[in-house]
Amino acid sequence: MIPVHPDQLTPGSTVAQLRDVWTSAGATGTLAFDGDVVASPGNPPAAGEVVDAAGWIAMPPLCDLHAHLDKAYTWEAAGRPEGSLEDAVACWSGFGRTLGFEQMKANGRRQLRAALSAGVLAIRSHANYHEGPDPLRGIRALVELREEFRGLVDLQVVAMHGHDRDDGLVRDGIALGADLVGAAPHLSPDSAGEVARALRLAEEAGIGVDLHTDETLDARSTDLLTLARGTRHWPAERPRSAGHCVSLAVQSPGRLTTILDAVAQARVSIITNPLTNLYLQGWRHPVATPRAIPPLASLLAAGVEVAAGGDNVQDPFNPLGNGDMVPVVGALVLAGHLSPARAWEVAAAGGRRVFGLAPADGRPGDAADVLLVRASSVAEAVAEHAPDRIVIRAGRVVAVRRTAIDTVAQDALVGEAA
Ligand SMILES: [Zn+2]
Repeated sequence: MIPVHPDQLTPGSTVAQLRDVWTSAGATGTLAFDGDVVASPGNPPAAGEVVDAAGWIAMPPLCDLHAHLDKAYTWEAAGRPEGSLEDAVACWSGFGRTLGFEQMKANGRRQLRAALSAGVLAIRSHANYHEGPDPLRGIRALVELREEFRGLVDLQVVAMHGHDRDDGLVRDGIALGADLVGAAPHLSPDSAGEVARALRLAEEAGIGVDLHTDETLDARSTDLLTLARGTRHWPAERPRSAGHCVSLAVQSPGRLTTILDAVAQARVSIITNPLTNLYLQGWRHPVATPRAIPPLASLLAAGVEVAAGGDNVQDPFNPLGNGDMVPVVGALVLAGHLSPARAWEVAAAGGRRVFGLAPADGRPGDAADVLLVRASSVAEAVAEHAPDRIVIRAGRVVAVRRTAIDTVAQDALVGEAA
């Protein structure tokens, strides 16, 4: 069979082999698929395209473990607000009541399509219990989108209640088909009580939790410890995640060790959201502005499972998100001080583990899910924002992204300058 060039692949193509491809593990060779898994060596070749992938890297696809699909693309409509987390929450409680089911669903669909084309194949999204009539419209919109994108982008829905919502309404939201219970205890006057309530409601429903946790630079906020102590007796397979964990960035080294030991023992995963935290935190610190990102190297060294989220996409909480996780990987490098390879590992393999997906590291039996990027190194892929990508899921091309740039000839540029 004559190999095809990656530029010839189109969505819908079945891929049998990627030849001369460089893997993020550092080797060049053939990556063969057998349907929806990576083939074992010596297997007869499967049907599908054989691709000459020299000059391309086969990366594990990215996962966005903290999104807000029900708020996406609303920054302009909300009046271009800027400011702190408190400002954004206040803006949302006014503007959010005007946003209807259909608009939320359309905005969420737009972000899911952006994610698919970027090679983000799993998203965990929170949905508010919204202000105004029909407070469950955000959860309903996301549950419907979960079905719409099944087989393309896996979606988990976190029903995220505020402390002012009563148990009855929270239960109604969970019953719509939420995968996880969410909350934001640090916004409550009784944060420990809010953690306990979220855990009780999750236990009652037989599902896990993913809480917005300690999204503040106040070191006294240690809901993460409450969450760890409240879930350490949970069965291992029941998910428990803490998003943000900003206050870990301002703990003393001794206190940090105590908290992280408890978190690792309780198997609470931490989801870091560098872009939104860089934007929303630190408005009261005009100099020596804190980065507000948990100390990622310490988390990993303590044995804590870490994943990453894009969090907000052009909404009152961040005007600049775009559904692509490559800029988030870049922020993990620049602001979180992870190496490019480690940052990608957190956003890809770490995300899959937290989400509950099978590995996609290119080993025999792994999922045949690959983000094929034209680049000579992981650092280059991140630095250049990976302009050319081919997204393969279950051995099938599901999206293609190609950038076309055209300039006048170089001698014409020189002529103009002269
Ligand atoms: Zn969030």
